[in-house]
Amino acid sequence: MNVPLIDLKAQHAPLADQIAAATLRVIHNTDFILGSDVAAFEEEFAAFCGTSFAVGVANGTDAIHLACRALGIGAGDEVITVANTFIATLIGIQLAGARPVLVDCNESDFLIDINRIEAAITPRTRAIAIVHLYGQCVEMEPVLALARRHNLRVIEDSAQAHGAVWNGKRAGSFGDIGCFSFYPSKNLGACGDGGICVTGSAELRDRLRLLRNWGSTIKYHHDIFGFNSRLDTLQAAILRIKLPHLNSWNTARQRIATDFERQLAAIPQVRPPRPGEPGRHVFHLYVVRVPDRDRVLQELQKAGVGAGIHYPIPPHLSPAFASLGYGRGSFPVAEKLAGEILSLPMFPELTPDQTEHIFHALLKATITPCNP
Ligand SMILES: *Cc1c(COP(=O)(O)O)cnc(C)c1O
Repeated sequence: MNVPLIDLKAQHAPLADQIAAATLRVIHNTDFILGSDVAAFEEEFAAFCGTSFAVGVANGTDAIHLACRALGIGAGDEVITVANTFIATLIGIQLAGARPVLVDCNESDFLIDINRIEAAITPRTRAIAIVHLYGQCVEMEPVLALARRHNLRVIEDSAQAHGAVWNGKRAGSFGDIGCFSFYPSKNLGACGDGGICVTGSAELRDRLRLLRNWGSTIKYHHDIFGFNSRLDTLQAAILRIKLPHLNSWNTARQRIATDFERQLAAIPQVRPPRPGEPGRHVFHLYVVRVPDRDRVLQELQKAGVGAGIHYPIPPHLSPAFASLGYGRGSFPVAEKLAGEILSLPMFPELTPDQTEHIFHALLKATITPCNP
């Protein structure tokens, strides 16, 4: 049996006809750029998140980039974020001209270690960019309190956490701007690239609208320096079909995670994630910790289990960010985790037979070393 890390075809099949019809409708209407589906989806996604406004952009990286710019963050400014993240968080900050300043993660949930944020604040710090990594909502109350105390803005990289809930509120709705990606494999994915910023501020909404569209809301009137970074109308039309399914997809992920956790209790070497309060984790990825990870990963792949590593090289050790001046030992927890983490296949359509197969492959891989 083969179990992929994620099976997009399984998600697409039941919606294929609707998606094809919506695609044709947009093509016949020819309102390709900022068409009516973009505005409609923005309204629907803002309502889903519990925010007043949403502004569709080209991708999640741009959502972070334009969020920084909308908040007036640029050259000479610092934005605090976490050492354990996908590199796009740092790229978005740097695209705005600001410097990403990293804080280590904690071992219990792999998210930013809130207790270490304060020590990273300097006179240049303008914002904290929280990352709800793997689908897990950061405990926002202490972050918001810290930000208030130091007069910092809060950006939420929610690219992996569509629908995650903490304290009754959804990821993306706590800070000044929440940033989402609709990369196809995300919990809500388009048929291509896409992204969105959500905010409770009409002023920030207006800045974001300018920034994504060459600094213009009236054709050929350019108020500020802007970019070409709009959510494509075709993608918005497709996302409108998928959004009503997001809650049930997330619930399916949570149910599968519960099954995994029960099964994994039989393999003490494998440490499952700790989901915390119900709804806090929407399991974009199901990340366990396991000793001898590289060998276990190989064994799983041989058994047809499409496990992966998210991410094998922490951004501060990647050549792309050598200029930040960090090195090995700068963030010990993130570096240690990078050697132990393993993502098991996770998608809403995963069947009990498939989870069974993953469990048995993992059991075999963890009890039979390659070179006895
Ligand atoms: C996917 C992702 C992004 C970037 O989104 P794109 O749409 O691929 O540009 C940013 N941050 C995190 C945490 C992500 O997982």
